[in-house]
Amino acid sequence: MTQPYNYGTCDVCGTLLQEKYIKQNFWLKGDMVIVENVPAGVCPQCGAKVVRAEVGHWLLTLLRNSERIATAPRIAVPLIHLEPIELVPVFQT
Ligand SMILES: [Zn+2]
Repeated sequence: MTQPYNYGTCDVCGTLLQEKYIKQNFWLKGDMVIVENVPAGVCPQCGAKVVRAEVGHWLLTLLRNSERIATAPRIAVPLIHLEPIELVPVFQT
């Protein structure tokens, strides 16, 4: 990639999209996989993200590569289970 790809404008708000390298998460059979450094068009106004078709295909190929996934480093993330009782104050207002 020598020249920046032209993503055009945001479908939501019409602002010119900027190329950024983002983290994207995917769910694979109940496990979350995070792919870093994914080139995407990001809207500086509303945060909408667009991935171009070639990158989408490349991600699909990557996510079918079970060996690459099996050997990737693991991270631990907080998992919070929201109890219905916690939502009561929200619904009462
Ligand atoms: Zn936008």
